[in-house]
Amino acid sequence: MATATKQADIRYRVELKGKEIVVYKVHSSDDSQDYEVTVFEGKVSGCSCPATKPCYHMRDVQAREDARKPIGTLNGRGAEVKIERAGRLGKLVPMR
Ligand SMILES: [Zn+2]
Repeated sequence: MATATKQADIRYRVELKGKEIVVYKVHSSDDSQDYEVTVFEGKVSGCSCPATKPCYHMRDVQAREDARKPIGTLNGRGAEVKIERAGRLGKLVPMR
């Protein structure tokens, strides 16, 4: 690998039941802790790490969120909303 770009180590996606909020648990690059990246209505809004924002955690989580909606992109916003509602289970979803 020639790239020096960091990649966020995303461990969990947590959907908060009844809210338009998703929290991603991202493991720190020094392997010491987990950070929480908050997503509001499909847009990353913040990260609990001490780095200057937007950090690479926020960038990678936004990419992950965007990748979740291929059907919504094909069928329009109505389908996208329906998928989001069906997926809101309020539980931890392992990313691997
Ligand atoms: Zn961060």
